[in-house]
Amino acid sequence: MIKKENSIKNKNYQFDLCIIGSGHAALPVAIRLLNKNIKICLIPGGSFSISNKLQETYQGKSNIVNNSLDKHRLRVIGGTSKIWGGRCIPFKKIDFEKRNYAKNSGWPISYNSLKKYYSDAATYLDIGEAEFSSNSLITKNKFLIDGFVNDEVITDEIEKFSLPTDFSKKFASQLNDENNIYLFDNSSVIEIVYKNNSTVCKVNCKTVSGTNFSITAKNYVLAAGGIENARLLLHKFNFSKKYSCGNKYNNVGRYFMTHFSGIIAKIKFNNDVDINNKYEFCKNKIYSRRRISISHNSQRKNKILNFSAFLHHSPIEDSSHKNGILSLIFLLKNLRYFSHRIPPEYSKRLSNDTFSIRCYLTHIKNVVFNLHRIIPKVIMLSKKRFFDKRKLPSIIIDSERNEFYIHYHVEHEPLRSNYVSLINEVDCFGLKKTHVNLKPSKNDIKSIIKSHNIIDKELRKQKKGKLFFINSDSRNLILSQIGFGGHLIGTTRMSNDYKNGVVNKDCKVFEIDNLYIAGSSVFPTGGEANPALTIVALSLRLADHLSKKYYYNE
Ligand SMILES: Cc1cc2nc3c(=O)[nH]c(=O)nc-3n(C[C@H](O)[C@H](O)[C@H](O)COP(=O)(O)OP(=O)(O)OC[C@H]3O[C@@H](n4cnc5c(N)ncnc54)[C@H](O)[C@@H]3O)c2cc1C
Repeated sequence: MIKKENSIKNKNYQFDLCIIGSGHAALPVAIRLLNKNIKICLIPGGSFSISNKLQETYQGKSNIVNNSLDKHRLRVIGGTSKIWGGRCIPFKKIDFEKRNYAKNSGWPISYNSLKKYYSDAATYLDIGEAEFSSNSLITKNKFLIDGFVNDEVITDEIEKFSLPTDFSKKFASQLNDENNIYLFDNSSVIEIVYKNNSTVCKVNCKTVSGTNFSITAKNYVLAAGGIENARLLLHKFNFSKKYSCGNKYNNVGRYFMTHFSGIIAKIKFNNDVDINNKYEFCKNKIYSRRRISISHNSQRKNKILNFSAFLHHSPIEDSSHKNGILSLIFLLKNLRYFSHRIPPEYSKRLSNDTFSIRCYLTHIKNVVFNLHRIIPKVIMLSKKRFFDKRKLPSIIIDSERNEFYIHYHVEHEPLRSNYVSLINEVDCFGLKKTHVNLKPSKNDIKSIIKSHNIIDKELRKQKKGKLFFINSDSRNLILSQIGFGGHLIGTTRMSNDYKNGVVNKDCKVFEIDNLYIAGSSVFPTGGEANPALTIVALSLRLADHLSKKYYYNE
């Protein structure tokens, strides 16, 4: 049931459960608890459409140049699920292990305890079964690189793509019709109020038009996103003040992680090697893509962090690819109208560079000389990419020379020295804004370079091809590509003990009886996998825990 903003009164409302947020982390908790006789309220942080005023509350500072905190997340009902890319892949067993070569690694729960929730999460995200081997593809080819079987480099895994599902649309009917869920439209939590430093007694909230109200509930789930979860816990206390609630050991905001992603090498495959690099369907026409990863044994042997990559066409700005479609994409992305509409993680490289007139002319030439081939392809691709219900995730271009760039997406080591803290500037609700401090470790850089070396060694050994680094200084190239996009991980990490984390294995804040956290902020390590599938799986697990708690308390 949606409580319209103008019907919200300046008073205290009472519920069984209060959920703060309305994105990938929040909505699965509410939906899973429907029919459990639990009266739930959702404070969504916004309304159904984007408001500049609310989006500004996400602004902040960071030590990374050109990395705006308000561009990679949406303060609306549905949260960032309204703009995400839909790429789904689960964490692996190794991600949950304590690895002596990866600082602060190890989860207090095992892969097996999350496995059944991955299946349910797959349904929530519309990707069919939680099966990620190439056996679930309709085509018979097993490997990305045909016949490339070895113990170090894996090429028979796939990632699956969601519609991409927008949770505000998927669950619109439940939000509108269900009597047990009350969504307070256009309202935000502005303060969590504690009693005796051990219980949350209420949350103070405010609507955009300025009405103050509060919610008292038996339990609270904080699911406001990877930065906001820490921000709301730190609010009123500062980073250095150790004894704020849930923050006795100064862990809130610490261990911030993202995924490092970029291109430092290309692979020239031998001409007789077949490469299966295109979007393929699993059952029910779910788009999938093959990927490269490093086996767990090889990671342990080489003491490297988790790594994945996919094959990528030449950079679109490099007109020597002579590909009319890539040139057309380059020209469109540089048009002012389109450049504002591309998510920053995709437009970052283009916006950092300026291009010569000569460069533009060569791209125009590539388009004009290929026009007869481009037009039918553009019509077909535009339909699939923009108008189909299940959208083509991106455009993959084949290589005539059997040569591909390798786009990595890797684990980021969790360190206390990477953190989210509060600054003195405040937003329209009077909450302090955030600062993000992020620096890759030596281990991060070493792992990226070493993983490329492992791939090169196996390619040469099996006479499949060779990998070439595109710059003699790979370390600097990696550093120039560092940034954080929408993957905001680790700021309220899960741990076995209070000294090393913020929440326990049930996602409950240490020493606070009734405050739980949902979202990637609880991940102790970030793996190489995109976070949404694991966020949803953990939220469903949290819902089951809460369901038992209510059942036994009653
Ligand atoms: C362009 C882009 C592409 C991406 N692609 C992928 C992908 O392909 N695969 C993948 O796995 N991940 C992807 N991600 C990341 C993924 O979208 C996020 O990890 C995920 O959506 C985070 O979910 P969340 O619910 O924790 O946070 P959010 O979606 O950010 O939701 C936070 C919610 O909290 C609310 N809120 C904030 N402050 C308050 C407050 N004070 N009071 C009440 N409510 C509040 C907000 O309104 C919002 O509803 C992408 C991200 C971006 C930006």
